[in-house]
Amino acid sequence: MLVIMNRGASEAQISAVVEKIRAAGLTEHLSKGVERTIIGAIGEERKLEPEAFELLPGVEQALHIVKQYKIVAREWHPQDSVVDIRGIPLGGNSVQIIAGPCSVETQEQMDLAAAGVAAAGCRLMRGGAFKPRTSPYAFQGLGSKGLEYFRHAADKHNLPIVTELMDVRMLETFLEWDVDVIQIGTRNMQNFDLLKEVGRVNKPVILKRGMSATISEWLMAAEYIAAGGNHNIIFCERGVRSFETAYRNMLDVTAIPVLKRETHLPVIVDPSHAGGKAWLVPALSRAAVAAGADGLLVEMHPNPCEAWCDADQALTPQELQELVAVLRQIAGTLGRSLC
Ligand code: PEP
Ligand code: MN
Repeated sequence: MLVIMNRGASEAQISAVVEKIRAAGLTEHLSKGVERTIIGAIGEERKLEPEAFELLPGVEQALHIVKQYKIVAREWHPQDSVVDIRGIPLGGNSVQIIAGPCSVETQEQMDLAAAGVAAAGCRLMRGGAFKPRTSPYAFQGLGSKGLEYFRHAADKHNLPIVTELMDVRMLETFLEWDVDVIQIGTRNMQNFDLLKEVGRVNKPVILKRGMSATISEWLMAAEYIAAGGNHNIIFCERGVRSFETAYRNMLDVTAIPVLKRETHLPVIVDPSHAGGKAWLVPALSRAAVAAGADGLLVEMHPNPCEAWCDADQALTPQELQELVAVLRQIAGTLGRSLC
């Protein structure tokens, strides 16, 4: 951390800063310029709070010089990490498409959806059994029964399952159904107790971006998971809140290269919750893969008109198949392989 003293700060004020640095177990490095003194705190500076220094008399500004995230930072792990999902690589040279309905509805719907996912050549399946709905009167998901339908349908095609965990009390149930990838939704990106718990389990986690979260907050949220020992984290950009009302959320394509620079972990994109309309999904998907995304999380329903949740944004099985074919070409152009 750097502590910049005011012009004309007294020796006593400088000493008080030095004392505070030493009291925290760090050492100081003084740089006395013509106009002002800058004090560097050397050691584990993440535990120092700049605000606590800015309150001291004679201090103009205090700032961290290292990033607050460490395990997830590329600085500490320069090569790309590949998350292994039951033998399927997410990250590295491959591009994975995770597809399936917004929510689990019936066994028949999940059987048809799983067949559609497999027929399109996708290797992972999504589906929500616990749904975070804006209205408490809307369909909330089938709960544990949904996990059962999902597991049965996906197993017939050997598809690992991705599903959202909203409440830490359901974690045991997720492990009983052997959920392959735990999804943390946008509304829970900063539910730190939930993040700590999934940090203790040995399951890959898809961490969606909070709807108004900065990239730095998102990285810190991932660090919560990583700090517990679970380093199998996949970032998922799903659009952010904006002033625009023509679509559901604004897909932040820029976040893809920024994240890839900041972290070694894989980055995927959810074009469905970004656009909110099925007709927007192909364009947003193409943009995401072209910008370097390691995969997509796409909503597909065997019969979108009948979907119980997010009907507007679901692709048909046929549309998914067509999308995958185009994305395979884009991935190939970039020297990557899809599925
Ligand atoms: C979902 O993927 O089912 C979902 C609810 O997404 P988000 O958390 O991005 O809104
Ligand atoms: Mn949805």
